[in-house]
Amino acid sequence: MTIYQKRHAVLAKHVSERITPAQLKAELLGTFPSLNPSSVNAPDCFYSDRKKAGSTCPECGKLGGFAVNRSGIVDMGASGWGGVSPVYIPTGNTRSSIQASAAISMSDPLASFDWKTVCARYDAVCCGFNPSSQHLRGLYAGTLNDRPLYYKLIGAAASDSRSRLDADWYEALLYWKLYSQHTLDSRITEWRQGLVSGDLRRFLAKIPAAIQRRVQDVIELVELVGGYQFPGMKSGTALPVRTTFLHILYPSVVPIFDQMVLKAVGAWREGANQEVGVLRQYIPHAWSLADRHTGQLAGFKESPVRLVDMALWVKRS
Ligand SMILES: [Zn+2]
Repeated sequence: MTIYQKRHAVLAKHVSERITPAQLKAELLGTFPSLNPSSVNAPDCFYSDRKKAGSTCPECGKLGGFAVNRSGIVDMGASGWGGVSPVYIPTGNTRSSIQASAAISMSDPLASFDWKTVCARYDAVCCGFNPSSQHLRGLYAGTLNDRPLYYKLIGAAASDSRSRLDADWYEALLYWKLYSQHTLDSRITEWRQGLVSGDLRRFLAKIPAAIQRRVQDVIELVELVGGYQFPGMKSGTALPVRTTFLHILYPSVVPIFDQMVLKAVGAWREGANQEVGVLRQYIPHAWSLADRHTGQLAGFKESPVRLVDMALWVKRS
């Protein structure tokens, strides 16, 4: 269950009653004790004429309106959006003057990209990879470089062996994502030690073996990862690590979302890699890039979605 579904499960018990965000939050934390209080954004399901940028709750989206109407009564969307947009559009300004902005435009910087050289050029910009890193253990010990580690991570996460993924895999995954950012070794070790293996197993048992290209499905998986509070990707803004985790599980569908790719498609602004609204736009953009260049993306070990990611990385490095 995503955090939104949990919120709505609680709201559904109060149809036609009055409720406040504080009551909803208290009941949600009582019903789902593992939730992180700071991740419970109860007001999101409540009508407010200040929500000019739109609704951020996908469950409210399915209902066609805010679960709680402008009178504070739970009507599960019956009274609609009341003039507020059903689609959240980030304003880029979270503090003062609320001014709705158009969707961010994203470009295709790969029109004349030489795909034959993508692997060599990618390898050349992978700086700082250490084959003897303490974070490469067991199956991953001594892996020579970024791409060989990627292949091992993907192979281990294939749907038929997924249930055997362990803390070694998780730590190697964090290392793969973070080595280029000079994340402290002590942080990664702390995250490995904080991983509850049972949580990882439960998560892996819950997710589908394969997913289709549906933006909402990916967003819900990102939220589901958040619900499990895995170390290193707990915060709602840890989208780069969460999408990397999901990419390794669904390498042909989920694109990695981070500062580098946003810069490459001309959609970077401070904090954009932490906004779900930007992620919602980037996912279909990455798919369209993969489709546009698909004729040149055959014969690689990587999926077209991953090759686009590598090319964007090369473009920015
Ligand atoms: Zn809602």
